[in-house]
Amino acid sequence: MVIRKLFRFEAAHIVRGCSTDRCKENIHGHSFIVELFLQSKTLDNAGMVYDFGLLKGAVKGFIDAFDHCYLLWSGEKEVIKNFVKNCNKRWIEFPFNPTSETLALFLHKGVQDILNKTSFANGEGEIKVKSVRLHETATGYAETEEDEELLNRVPLPMKVTFSPGILQENFVLAYYLNGGEWLNTL
Ligand SMILES: [Zn+2]
Repeated sequence: MVIRKLFRFEAAHIVRGCSTDRCKENIHGHSFIVELFLQSKTLDNAGMVYDFGLLKGAVKGFIDAFDHCYLLWSGEKEVIKNFVKNCNKRWIEFPFNPTSETLALFLHKGVQDILNKTSFANGEGEIKVKSVRLHETATGYAETEEDEELLNRVPLPMKVTFSPGILQENFVLAYYLNGGEWLNTL
C-alpha cells in the first residue's frame, strides 16, 4: 500500500554545468512541490499506512527548512558563496550541485532516515520511502525510485550545512540534527 503527501517550498539556486544558459548563469527561483510516497506492507491500528498528521512533525520540519532558502553548491564561486552567506539568513550548502534530481535523492534519504529514527506508537509497520517526486516547474519533475543505484550517491552522514538562520527558526530540524548523525551543522 502506498500513500502520498504533498509539501511545497520556494527556493533559489544556480545549476552550474547544465546546458541551459538561463539556469547555469543566473540566480533564479522555483516554487518546488514535493510529492512524498510512503509504503508499508501492513496497516496501523486505525487501518492506515501512516497517519498524515504525524508527518507534520519532523518530516514537515525537514522539508520546511528548504523554504525561502538559497540552495548553495559548495563548489560555487567564492563571490557567490560569500554573498549568499553574508546577505541571507536562510541557505543550505550541499556537497552536490542542487538540481531537482540530487535534491530529490537527498529528500528521499533524509525522510527515510527520519522515519528510521521515529518511534511508532500505533502499530505501524515498516514505513519505507517509495519515492520522492520533486517538481521544479509546472511542467517538469524528478522522481526517485526505490532501491535505485543513484541513492547510493547520497551517503549519510554527509556534509550538508543548514544556516544558523534556519536552525534558529526550525526547532524540529535542530532537534533531529542534534540527535542524529545524518547531517552536519555549523
Ligand atoms: Zn532552477
